[in-house]
Amino acid sequence: MTKAAFIYSEKLWERGHGEAHPLQPERLKRTYELLGAYGAFDSEDSLLVPARQATLEELGLFHSQEYITAVQKLSRGEEGVNAARYNFGSGDNPIFAGMYETEALKLGAGMVALELVLSGEVEVAFSFAGGMHHARPAYASGFCVFNDVAVAIHKMLAEGLRVAYIDIDVHHGDGVQAAFYDNDRVLTISFHESGYHLFPGSGFVEEIGKGVGRGYAVNLPLAPYTDDETYVWAFQEIVPLLVQKFDPDIVVTQLGIDTHYQDPLAHLCLTTEGYVAVVETIKSLAPRWLSFGGGGYELDVVPRAWTLAYGVMWDKEFPDEIPSPYADKYGLTTLRDHKKPFLDDWVRDQARSQAEVGVETLKKTVLRSIQGRE
Ligand SMILES: [Zn+2]
Repeated sequence: MTKAAFIYSEKLWERGHGEAHPLQPERLKRTYELLGAYGAFDSEDSLLVPARQATLEELGLFHSQEYITAVQKLSRGEEGVNAARYNFGSGDNPIFAGMYETEALKLGAGMVALELVLSGEVEVAFSFAGGMHHARPAYASGFCVFNDVAVAIHKMLAEGLRVAYIDIDVHHGDGVQAAFYDNDRVLTISFHESGYHLFPGSGFVEEIGKGVGRGYAVNLPLAPYTDDETYVWAFQEIVPLLVQKFDPDIVVTQLGIDTHYQDPLAHLCLTTEGYVAVVETIKSLAPRWLSFGGGGYELDVVPRAWTLAYGVMWDKEFPDEIPSPYADKYGLTTLRDHKKPFLDDWVRDQARSQAEVGVETLKKTVLRSIQGRE
């Protein structure tokens, strides 16, 4: 049995980006409720640990002081701040009252998770409210205000650790990739829907890092309608080889479930079966594991996927039948998907061909150049 920790606070779902915004705090609340319904926090091998606010020093490991101050002022509704300068506005990144506290709590949750893993108290910790992989040093991006992943990796680098970051969100993990693009002690791997079809429009196979970091950024852009079979094949074909060769001290993951076929924002076609197969592969590669949530916008999907993911982390197979209080409240009966999306053969074959070309390219480029430890 692995010892795992789940980081939470009810304050994480008190406030959010607004009723019309896809990033509904309800997704966090329901995940917490579903895990609770399965009794996930009733064992001494699974710790339920309170989140805390990030400190200014932690935020400053990645973000500029000017940006941190601007987020504080905007959060309090102060006049005289040019919101557009920091990419806030009515679209992806709206300003809301208490934004600073909410977003700094998400980042602080990741710091708690990191501390638990580094101290050896647990082997894996899940900061399910985090994974804000698009946020940049001086501006918000793609629903992300503070980049908890980048701050956590900076802290690990300061401890002398080698870090492998695996991002399976449907969107390219651009903010994290950019933060460590010229670093050979952080391997960033992102599988995502191609930037030709989806925000943020980057993450092409040619993006492999620069300077000493050349070969330490890995991207596999996938075609719309890529399904479980192709995704899991591509992941297993390249990720274990890369991670084993790199030989990290710790694996960091962003486990967005916006790859799911029912997700309203993107066009990949995974089910919980493919998602779990990938998370299981990650577990087999991770000496220690710091895990973040991420995207995922279908309320009937996110709680089930993250419950399954936490089960993999903690080595616990939850029964498929959803316990009655949750099932009755939300009208869901099974934890796992029992339907697959219908895809025409030619659509499936096209997606498979694109993945095969990408995997072959990565084998010739990053897999050849990557070095283990000295
Ligand atoms: Zn996403």
